[in-house]
Amino acid sequence: MTSAAPPTAAVTELPPAGSRVFTGTRPTGPWHIGQMWAVLSNMVQLQESYDCYFCLVDYHALTTAWAHPERIQGNIREIALDWMAGGIDPLRSTLFVQSHVPEVIEFAGLLNMITPVAWLDRNPTYRETLEQNKAAEANAGLFTYPVLQTADICLYKGELVPIGKDQATHLHLAQDIAKTFLRIFKRPIFPVPGYLFAEVPLIPGLDNRKMSKSYGNAIDMRESAESTQEKVMRMFTDPQKQRKGDPGHPEHCPVFTFHGIVSPTETVSEVRGGCTSGALGCVDCKRLMGSNLVTHLAPMRERRATLAGHPKQVDELLGYGAEKARKVARETLREVREVMGLERGFYITDGGLALPPALQFNPQDPEFQGGYHQFFVQVAEGDRAQVRAYLLEQAESLQFKFHGFEEVQGGEVIILVSGNPRLAIPGVPLQPLGAGYELHVTVPLERVKRLHVDQLSQAIIDTNPKKIYATGVRPIAGGVVFRVFGKSLSPSDQRHLVQRLATLMEIPAEGLELVPNDAVNAGPRSVSVPVRVRGTITPGE
Ligand code: SF4
Repeated sequence: MTSAAPPTAAVTELPPAGSRVFTGTRPTGPWHIGQMWAVLSNMVQLQESYDCYFCLVDYHALTTAWAHPERIQGNIREIALDWMAGGIDPLRSTLFVQSHVPEVIEFAGLLNMITPVAWLDRNPTYRETLEQNKAAEANAGLFTYPVLQTADICLYKGELVPIGKDQATHLHLAQDIAKTFLRIFKRPIFPVPGYLFAEVPLIPGLDNRKMSKSYGNAIDMRESAESTQEKVMRMFTDPQKQRKGDPGHPEHCPVFTFHGIVSPTETVSEVRGGCTSGALGCVDCKRLMGSNLVTHLAPMRERRATLAGHPKQVDELLGYGAEKARKVARETLREVREVMGLERGFYITDGGLALPPALQFNPQDPEFQGGYHQFFVQVAEGDRAQVRAYLLEQAESLQFKFHGFEEVQGGEVIILVSGNPRLAIPGVPLQPLGAGYELHVTVPLERVKRLHVDQLSQAIIDTNPKKIYATGVRPIAGGVVFRVFGKSLSPSDQRHLVQRLATLMEIPAEGLELVPNDAVNAGPRSVSVPVRVRGTITPGE
């Protein structure tokens, strides 16, 4: 039995169980045992009672480490391993990488519009950088760091952020930005985040300063037993105790602090007595503590080694977390876009074109009558910038909408535009995407609007993710048309897809079938499979 549990960061105010907690860390280096005892233990404790979002904030890391992106990416997996080995359960909490949910950047850009520059100018991190005469490092990313931080928290509807007392200024700024947004747009899209003060215990490093990556005085969680023992033997000790026989002051010695964490109670008492009497020498004392430290860390390091042997699984777990996070992020961003007047028309998601549920499209609207076309163009990656510039330049005069690029399998890029069918891109032949399908459904638009668009896109993608490049949903008079682009789908995949869509729209699947888009592309869009809708709703309503 050890004399004391590892020092746990105390939560001083207890919010209701199930509240959503958000916290992030910059992946600037693997975690050390000081962070494990002081911060990770608190996260594991929070995980027991709250809906935790634990984020590896790589965009934030780029504000200072932009010249070394490879280090950031390498550290992401290392910290994910540290966190999981230290007790974070990625199936219980939402563990993810910030840039895997890029919606946060758009949200931060929108929050920038309502954030006074004067607030950001007072940001302590930015001021410190300036005061240290590091003007070259005071980039715009660092200046707007608090806005991205606010976006991180509010995008996931975070209710609570665990912070140390030195981070209160940042959190107050996030609260002010959130309150300003909610006051202006008058819709409670996200809560104003509260915070939990965590009393972070001070863990000394090898040199008796606070253990820190930047001081080079840390023992990493991933370190080997040999390296751990070797570092312990180099640890600072009471300078008044020069040799065995000299009485020491254990309360001033980091080795004794560590004994308090990793050694049995009786050993701690013996060390205290031996040190103060002089009977115990520092070399023996360190050797004993090092051995106990290695034993204390062994279960965590075993878990870490096992996980490290399965990097694909770790990536999959991070992907799982990102998917969970993205569902919330999309919903928040959709509402934010809506109140800021940006939800008019289609937008691009991973699944292709999406219909915002609140979109006010109307089959009577000339914008959506006839003449609505999409071009799916394959463009070599090197030509993308040139083509993008051309499309943006031409969009107004040719009256089409440029929806963006969508990367698909095999490094191909698809440009999605809609509008004028006479569009031509110099030097880029328009190419159909090979096999594809359409399903026209005459169904009240309200029926589709009520559905979360992600459900529709997901139903299509789930059918056979390896074979579907892109999907689209667009209104036609009195109904919608789903477009599916990709390799040939088997008859059973087609049946499955039709069944899923019909179930989502609460219409019978009988009589519905996908139509190969070769036939559709060849002529006017006249291929449709009207269905009778249950109930009394009139098609085209
Ligand atoms: Fe520190 Fe142990 Fe030396 Fe005392 S005997 S000064 S506790 S290392």
